[in-house]
Amino acid sequence: MNEDYILQMKGINKSFSGVHVLHDVSFEMRAGEVRALAGENGAGKSTLMKILGGIYDCDSGEILIQGEKIGIGSVQDASRHGVSIIHQEIVLVQDMTVGENIFLGREFKTRSGFVDFRRIYKEASEILGRIGLGDLSPDTVVRELSLSQQQMVEIAKALSANSRILVMDEPTSSLTDREVEFLFDQIRALSKKGVSIIYISHKMDEINQIADSITIMRDGRHILTRPICGISYEEIIQNMVGHKIEDYYPDYKVKPGKEVLRVEHMTTEKVEDISFTLSEGEILGITGLMGAGRTEMVNALFGLEPVLSGEIYLDGQKSVIQSPREAMKKKISLVPEDRKEKGLFLENSISFNMTVTVMDEFIKGIAVDSKKEQEILDEYVNQLDIKMADTEQLVVELSGGNQQKVVISKWLASAPRILILDEPTRGVDVGAKSDIYHLICKIAEKGVAIILISSELPEVMNMSSRIGVMCEGRLVKFFEPDKEEITQEKIMHYATGGYEHETYSQ
Ligand code: ADP
Ligand code: MG
Repeated sequence: MNEDYILQMKGINKSFSGVHVLHDVSFEMRAGEVRALAGENGAGKSTLMKILGGIYDCDSGEILIQGEKIGIGSVQDASRHGVSIIHQEIVLVQDMTVGENIFLGREFKTRSGFVDFRRIYKEASEILGRIGLGDLSPDTVVRELSLSQQQMVEIAKALSANSRILVMDEPTSSLTDREVEFLFDQIRALSKKGVSIIYISHKMDEINQIADSITIMRDGRHILTRPICGISYEEIIQNMVGHKIEDYYPDYKVKPGKEVLRVEHMTTEKVEDISFTLSEGEILGITGLMGAGRTEMVNALFGLEPVLSGEIYLDGQKSVIQSPREAMKKKISLVPEDRKEKGLFLENSISFNMTVTVMDEFIKGIAVDSKKEQEILDEYVNQLDIKMADTEQLVVELSGGNQQKVVISKWLASAPRILILDEPTRGVDVGAKSDIYHLICKIAEKGVAIILISSELPEVMNMSSRIGVMCEGRLVKFFEPDKEEITQEKIMHYATGGYEHETYSQ
């Protein structure tokens, strides 16, 4: 029976200085299975995987690989049994090269016993090519790479180990869409070869795309393991938070006010012929597959990408927005997708982040009414329920959800009339997601016009007064939830280009 399983963890318990964080957790997997491991922050996912990876010892419980009980007391033990982990935090040696990092501890030796750099770089090049990093020279020093490149190097390192069980702990948190696609290709290829993959993620769209099955943990306990096709989004959330969330999505009835934005036939290098309107108090959801051009479209509205042709009207007046500074002057704010890179000073305190605005470089020369700014901050921040020790706590110590709340409030300080939110709930756990949804509606109620970009269909479907679907740089379809029944399938049909096969009768 047990030979069916490549991995069995049984009755795992773990405490940290008296705090019991894993309670009798069991976890089984078959060869070639892609398992999503989900749960709110602090549920114990990383700890369970660190026990498997030999980073922590468990207090009790056992681990079996192919039915055989083994002891994993160190990272070397784990890799000897074919387990490797891509950790949530980057653990590369910053002053070593990419190639040295990939083969660290497993260096090839020449016949005379020296490190065989030629072979290291040759093999490193080959692996980098597989994940779309063929242009990156393996003798580059890691310190010089961007965060997302470093994460890809972590992935290359894990791939090079030829593991049987590969754990990825929130691997896509700082990856670009293109990199995520390369990663998913690798996951599919590995799974075909019989490698089992444990994929820790908050992102429902990723889980749906890549996983065969899902395990949900909560408060250090195993809650359920089920095939991905037999479980709904609502069930996943309920099991993650442990109760049915009433009002998970706010009940927001828009009374759209006057038109604030009209875009006509806007074309940039990356998007084509974009037309839509946006009114006060409206929440326009924009969805589509990775790389469909959603971010590029709003970047153009925020002056980050040149508009090649077409027009933008603000309050009916033809406008040109050539820089973020100009956009901010015109009361447009954009909360970017990657809060770690663009939105926050992680190593500074919450109070610093709240008062020293990231927009400083954009708004140099624009008088900011600091009293008004403080009022706005106070108003939203109090409602936000940011879980923190005090305002002097460093932002880096906050959970993703709470970081995002800080980011959104900061951008509100400039009192925007148009607020663009690019994937505002990425990497945010479900409880905090609901808080952010309520916040978005509160902002809309005050008459702010909102563009909400999201890949998570339930989110767009429940939050938007209108939904625009993008595909290959174009806005190909609008849905109005109040007027028609919208399903995920209908949206996906357009997001995947299915509309091209339709015959239009005009
Ligand atoms: P997840 O990965 O699901 O967010 P973790 O496994 O990181 O959760 O954390 C589970 C619990 O264990 C949390 O309460 C966390 O604070 C605690 N914890 C994790 N690592 C340590 C550690 N090294 N020392 C003390 N407590 C820890
Ligand atoms: Mg974790």
